[in-house]
Amino acid sequence: MSATPSQSAPRPARAGAGQARRPRGEGQWALGHREPLNPNERTKKDDDGLNVRARIETIYAHGGFASIDPADLRGRMRWYGLYTQRKPGIDGGRTAILEPHELDDEYFMLRVRVDGGQLSPEQLRVVADISTRYARDTADITDRQNIQYHWIRIEDVPAIWQALESVGLQTTEACGDTPRVVLGSPVAGISKDEVLDASPAIDAIVARYIGDKAYSNLPRKFKTTISWLPDVPYEANDVAFLGVDHPEHGPGFDLWVGGGLSTNPMLAKRLGVWVPLDEVPEVWAGVVGIFRDYGYRRLRHRARLKFLVADWGVERFREVLEGEYLQRKLIDGPAPELPAEPLDHIGVHEQRDGRYYVGVAAVAGRVSGSVLTRVAELADAHGSGRVRLTPYQKLLILDVPKEEVNGLVNGLREIDLQAEPSQWRRGTMACTGIEYCKLAIVETKARAADLVAHLERTLGDLDTSFTINVNGCPNACARTQVADIGLKGQLVPGPDGDMVEGFQVHLGGGLAMAKGQEGGFGRKVRGLKTTAEELPAYVERVARSYLAGRTEGE
Ligand code: SF4
Repeated sequence: MSATPSQSAPRPARAGAGQARRPRGEGQWALGHREPLNPNERTKKDDDGLNVRARIETIYAHGGFASIDPADLRGRMRWYGLYTQRKPGIDGGRTAILEPHELDDEYFMLRVRVDGGQLSPEQLRVVADISTRYARDTADITDRQNIQYHWIRIEDVPAIWQALESVGLQTTEACGDTPRVVLGSPVAGISKDEVLDASPAIDAIVARYIGDKAYSNLPRKFKTTISWLPDVPYEANDVAFLGVDHPEHGPGFDLWVGGGLSTNPMLAKRLGVWVPLDEVPEVWAGVVGIFRDYGYRRLRHRARLKFLVADWGVERFREVLEGEYLQRKLIDGPAPELPAEPLDHIGVHEQRDGRYYVGVAAVAGRVSGSVLTRVAELADAHGSGRVRLTPYQKLLILDVPKEEVNGLVNGLREIDLQAEPSQWRRGTMACTGIEYCKLAIVETKARAADLVAHLERTLGDLDTSFTINVNGCPNACARTQVADIGLKGQLVPGPDGDMVEGFQVHLGGGLAMAKGQEGGFGRKVRGLKTTAEELPAYVERVARSYLAGRTEGE
């Protein structure tokens, strides 16, 4: 870092009671605010999150749950994808009331990063085997192309790491204030529509920077997408590289920064630069460097990169990136062109090599180790064995010869992975929710499944896409604000006046995934809430009124 942050000087202090107050600043390291200003920053300063691995291997895995230092348990273990899961039976009304240790179960959620969503046959088998052996057959496909297990015992973590690492997978920086899994196009390298495969940039970033202590203490989490196609939610990430053809320089990537949902949602903004494939890792590291050095560390809820981008604006962000981090100018670039239709890759599609890929939907990403074992067998029998995860909680099986497609589709249907799902199943996602998540207020996965079944039963299928994102709390892990119907879990008054599980409804949000679309957040109309019990009937009413009122071609 080379920071002479003259342009970032704190605002003058307001005088109060005749005395000039010292400006508190936002906790930006580059401005000299190195003293931790909140407990999370203190924990990170006391010891780097990456150091917890040695303690897990040498102490905690032998001493068991009770031997874990609380600062590691609720802080640093995230640097390896480990969160304690919620104690069963604690309702959402008590989420905010109980102390963290009262919510902790002695089991963990473990997140495996699958950068770019790409799994080789060996990797898929190991992922499935860990689920059945150590995770009570749980395995969710997340909307960030991760695999998430539950019921993990600390005693088993070293053996799980060994199994994952034997096939090139890891949990390093899967959570925590770090660069999380890098999202990539699920059809990178095989799509007929792709001009440039971004996978080498993703691989280089993971190899060079993940696990590097220069980037392991960020103000908060940092999310990335790198993809030629707009089949990843690029506008909702801290940094995004999206494919664009430059009239003089050829294929490369358009750089976006400062997207993020949760509270104060913001869409990423274009910096207006064109980055060639081989420079993506360096530019990515520059953006992460800005976040590390200038990101706000005083208040956790203002610590994401989006707040800095909002305050600075894109011009200044670009200047600092070029001047302080890259020491060179970037090339101006055009905006990417979006395809005619949004791409979710469900169904049967021809690859550029003449073989096919098959995209299938489980409900809201819920599969299991047993299901993944069967997927591995089917992918081997009918294709090359390669599989991809999508950031919409779906799964693709690659490299299938034409004559094998039907056999594969039928085999997948037997394990309830559908290549021709209803639009309801196809467009529904759900976060982890109260079943395991300590921050949750409501249940999500089972509700999503009930909702899909209800809509299929009452409305049949739709002739257009329709997205429903079910979230268990305001954190928006399943992207509440960018769905046709976004649901944010909260307690709402029930029929007899008692508070019960329910949802705040956001209507009409979406990301720009195709020509003519503009990213925007759903409207959160005051009073637009439903109890969880009423949810299926409520969504049915919204859908019916949309269908009745839509204009031709809508
Ligand atoms: Fe947990 Fe809330 Fe995220 Fe859902 S949105 S996984 S309930 S933190």
